[in-house]
Amino acid sequence: MNIHQVIVVGAGPVGLLCALDLARQGVQVCVLELEPSTTLDLRAGTFHPPTLEMLAPLGVTDAMMAIGMKVPVWQSRDLQEGLIAEWDMSILRDDTPFPFRLHLEQHRLTPILLEKLSAYPNAQVLFSHEFVSLTQTPDRVSVRVMHKDQEMDLLAHWVVGADGGKSAVRKSAGIDFDGYTWPERYSVVSTTHDFSHLGYADNAYVSDPEQWVAFFRMPDKGPPGLWRMTIPVGQAYTDEEILDPKYANSVFQRVLGTSSDVFYPIVHQSVYRVHQRVANQFRRERVLLAGDSAHVNNPLGGFGLNSGIHDAMNLSDKLARVIVKGESLDLLNLYERQRKTVNMEYVQEISIKNKHHLEEADPKIRQERFAQLRKINANDSSRREYLMVSSMINSIKKANSIS
Ligand SMILES: Cc1cc2nc3c(=O)[nH]c(=O)nc-3n(C[C@H](O)[C@H](O)[C@H](O)COP(=O)(O)OP(=O)(O)OC[C@H]3O[C@@H](n4cnc5c(N)ncnc54)[C@H](O)[C@@H]3O)c2cc1C
Repeated sequence: MNIHQVIVVGAGPVGLLCALDLARQGVQVCVLELEPSTTLDLRAGTFHPPTLEMLAPLGVTDAMMAIGMKVPVWQSRDLQEGLIAEWDMSILRDDTPFPFRLHLEQHRLTPILLEKLSAYPNAQVLFSHEFVSLTQTPDRVSVRVMHKDQEMDLLAHWVVGADGGKSAVRKSAGIDFDGYTWPERYSVVSTTHDFSHLGYADNAYVSDPEQWVAFFRMPDKGPPGLWRMTIPVGQAYTDEEILDPKYANSVFQRVLGTSSDVFYPIVHQSVYRVHQRVANQFRRERVLLAGDSAHVNNPLGGFGLNSGIHDAMNLSDKLARVIVKGESLDLLNLYERQRKTVNMEYVQEISIKNKHHLEEADPKIRQERFAQLRKINANDSSRREYLMVSSMINSIKKANSIS
């Protein structure tokens, strides 16, 4: 039976990117995806500077920039106080060739990756192929796959689990996913209504003890794009109530201070549960985890997909060196040390802190926080340091410093 060098499970952004970068380095790779095509649901959409730097040599950044939206300035706002700080990322111009966030819908990145991957004869993507389970021996992994109600077994030297937060690969490899689930759900709503005339930057985080809001202007099919808001919703509401456009409209009316007869045309809506969890191993023998299968977090800061992309690029480099150049397997343990450490110390910690700041109810702590943000923003050196963290540049420096 043919033995694949690598089977990647999941044709989400992380799996496709990992496969693309492996194929580029001459590795034979097979991607398994349970859906019949790449998925279309509303998910992440903010790309940070280090992500754009990593994707540039693959030609992916240029393709994203052609249809995405540059966001050089973002805001910290408060529902009562209005604008607290406007963060101009041009101060990072000496730190990165991409001193901005790029907004692009996640489901418009995956076709770019798929198209680039299709240029490699050493790569194949099998849609409608569901990973079921795996078993390992010292030199190979046997993967059970379901296709058209038929089970079959495939062999590989290495398996990368990039199959999302509910990862069957992680479960089958017996890797725990420690952490917790927040009690509230998050609702994502897109409207054609334009908020820029209200002074909103294309990305704004609005704190409020009752219900914070994160606003993103998304490129959609071209200018003027769509405005997307993410809000937390408590347990008093059912999913059905949350997905009723009347509910989304009541939130827009409250946040924007408009009367109940102002109607915001709703284009998309979704609701999802949010977790903070990290796999206790990113490698178990010949099985490696990357992206949401290895870690999940709340979306405040836009770290989830970005950190998954950072995993994919870190892992594909090391796995290709092991396979193509015969370098030490210890490289794969280094992958785990680097990526797990920054996920715990950076992605988890800061996304949780961001959430607490936005929902803080104590008026004194809120005012102290606003004063601190204004002070940081008023000084070039502290503003640069703040943006080095929020744009993930420091997380990459930290990962690279781990040996
Ligand atoms: C509903 C939702 C909304 C989100 N919104 C935001 C947001 O607003 N902002 C933000 O920063 N992040 C958001 N995220 C997180 C962000 O989308 C993820 O970090 C990102 O999708 C991770 O990419 P991935 O490739 O690791 O996983 P996914 O994108 O989940 O891709 C996994 C792929 O694996 C496939 N798969 C799963 N099981 C199997 C199997 N058994 N066999 C074969 N294939 C399988 C899936 O079909 C999918 O294509 C959201 C996540 C979800 C679930």
